[in-house]
Amino acid sequence: MTDIKSLIRPEKPVFLGGENPFEAMMSRFDYAAQLLNLDGGLYKVLRNPEKQLIVSVPVQMDNGQVEVFTGYRVLYNTSRGPGKGGIRFDKAVTLEEVTALAAWMTWKCAVVNIPFGGSKGGVNCDPLAMSVTELERMTRRYTSAIMQLLGPDSDVPAPDVNTNERVMAWVMDTYSMQMRHTVTAVVTGKPIEMGGSAGRREATGRGCMIVTQEALRHLGLPSTGARVAVQGFGNVGSVSADLLHRAGFSVVAVSDVKGGIYNEKGLDIPDVLSWRSKNRYLSGYKNAQAITNDELLALDCEVLLPAALENVITAKNADKIRAKVIVEGANGPTAAGADEILDRKGIFVVPDILANAGGVTVSYFEWVQDRGGYFWDEETVNNRLAQIMTNSFRNVLDVAKKYNVNMRIAAYTLAIDRVAAVHRLRGMYA
Ligand code: NAD
Repeated sequence: MTDIKSLIRPEKPVFLGGENPFEAMMSRFDYAAQLLNLDGGLYKVLRNPEKQLIVSVPVQMDNGQVEVFTGYRVLYNTSRGPGKGGIRFDKAVTLEEVTALAAWMTWKCAVVNIPFGGSKGGVNCDPLAMSVTELERMTRRYTSAIMQLLGPDSDVPAPDVNTNERVMAWVMDTYSMQMRHTVTAVVTGKPIEMGGSAGRREATGRGCMIVTQEALRHLGLPSTGARVAVQGFGNVGSVSADLLHRAGFSVVAVSDVKGGIYNEKGLDIPDVLSWRSKNRYLSGYKNAQAITNDELLALDCEVLLPAALENVITAKNADKIRAKVIVEGANGPTAAGADEILDRKGIFVVPDILANAGGVTVSYFEWVQDRGGYFWDEETVNNRLAQIMTNSFRNVLDVAKKYNVNMRIAAYTLAIDRVAAVHRLRGMYA
């Protein structure tokens, strides 16, 4: 058996400038792999993507000129089932970023034990500078170019940064036209009218609420009146804040890209939502005082829920955090260098690959419903989601106790163990 320590991260991919999310992920992966005493051969298999596809995406722009964009689709690991992962349109998209995100999806699907592997895709472009018709042509050409990977049994995309239900409808239509029949299960996050699932829009925030309740229960803290600060007021942040407010928590602060609002007695979240829908941003909201995003992170509260960006909690500011619990609604909000500081301060962290897995869980429900051609009502979706999130939280907690590690390492350990188990059972195809 090869010594795993001699294999750990032989080369370090560098991308995205500052803190490298692939490295942040791999440093936790390595820790978990050592805890599991993972066989050296399996370690090598799991740290490499299965397939990376780079495509040129020529698009006729509205002005008649042809532009050529670069698109990517990466299947990181499909041992447990079809690849599952979003498509993002962004200027920062690179092969390395897409690969890291595909790996992340592999562990996330394994933590909640849904029968998917991990994948991700993207097109390097500036979607905000493009018209809707240009975006549609680009989406269709990109879909055509990655057809060989796509399919309900092989790789199932979903929305990600700068893509939405409408983009998923174009992907589904392009795939279906080429297959000569309608294939709804090739993407998730579709409009309800064409095979989307009830409850998908709220699923990530609902999952965050459920694990927050579980975390407080585990720590013996009451949920009623527990103070929560939420960074980011988009899909994940606003739904989490709303559901936590309805569940009796006191949401004392929320923020968006322009800054935050704070009321020590608790914000009236339905009123804040109505203000945001009329004014687009939170700034100017009455009955609260304005605070910065940095101030929000350092508030005295029971729960901090970062739901905006990656790397907002770092070795530089982790010491200032006063929350007892951090629930990672966003992907990668905590830099690897902050983990130790948070542990030292006794802060209980519900890691991203568990906390925000509600979205992919209901994507799985959507895929199941599409394949069965039989649709569930919202209550059924929500109940099944609650069951999976609660069980997953408890499974990760059991691993944390067994190995005496924090919840993040426990989640990676559980995920890697599940993926590795399937590899061992399937054996090596030669
Ligand atoms: P979104 O675009 O709907 O919302 C993002 C929010 O963050 C907005 O309120 C925006 O104003 C705010 N924001 C942007 N820059 C900020 C900054 N510098 N400081 C503070 N706030 C800032 O996005 P979303 O879908 O809510 O996703 C948020 C995070 O959750 C991302 O990390 C995403 O990858 C992750 N996530 C989303 C889902 C999902 O189902 N939407 C699922 C899993 C993980």
